[in-house]
Amino acid sequence: MPKLALISGASRGIGRAISVALAQKGFDLALLYAGNEDSAAETRRLCEALGAQARLYRCDVSGFDQSGETVKQVLAQQGPISALVNNAGITNDKLLLQMKEEDFSRVLDVNLKGAFNLIRHCAPGFIKRREGKILNISSVAGLMGNAGQANYAAAKAGLIGLTKSVAKELAPRGICCNALAPGFIETDMTAALPATAREALLSAIPLRRAGAAEEVGALAAFLLGESAGYITGAVIPIDGGLSM
Ligand code: NAD
Repeated sequence: MPKLALISGASRGIGRAISVALAQKGFDLALLYAGNEDSAAETRRLCEALGAQARLYRCDVSGFDQSGETVKQVLAQQGPISALVNNAGITNDKLLLQMKEEDFSRVLDVNLKGAFNLIRHCAPGFIKRREGKILNISSVAGLMGNAGQANYAAAKAGLIGLTKSVAKELAPRGICCNALAPGFIETDMTAALPATAREALLSAIPLRRAGAAEEVGALAAFLLGESAGYITGAVIPIDGGLSM
């Protein structure tokens, strides 16, 4: 029986690459998307072409009840969940003095509370079956901070605290919880960067290149697979050396 992985923000970018890498590894997929159904359907097509069973669920992860309803639907339609990937994220970059309260709150609600919401609703099943792996997609911004990203860096640093706390609390039940801290990965999120900011960023990366979403996907699939059963509470940078 293939294991089932639930991935938030699966419609594009890193979420799509993780979904495809998990399909390659033999997982079935519950693909959560915020709004772009065509793009989510393309992720499903790519996963199904690899032999996976994949279903789409529209879910804004910032809503606690909506996240709970979605997890319920997944359980009813596809059965028990073995892996949860909290990948959904947004940026709203502004210098501190331009940042409004809602700019801060919304980024925290999606990136940090969204992960709590899905963990909170998946954990009872994980605990009951004494099986489950959680992977949170943090960022180097959460490790190092970043000018213009006080909201995003706070959310991503918060995800690291959440990861380690959940890892400690659920380890006695055989459940692993880890985080990835990607650096500069080529996706729609980073495509918006002005050329000068891009050049500055690239020159600060020891490997002198951006990462590919597929490289993040491969690491995620390893951490969610059978071979990674002794890794929990880890925060793994995937950043070309940027954070060292
Ligand atoms: P992206 O913008 O392409 O993808 C983000 C995904 O999250 C999209 O599918 C979007 O629909 C979804 N999403 C946004 N708001 C949502 C909500 N409220 N509910 C549910 N889904 C929602 O960006 P990406 O680069 O693929 O980023 C994926 C994750 O990786 C994010 O958490 C991001 O912060 C993180 N990350 C990205 C980079 C990078 O360089 N691209 C670096 C570090 C961390």
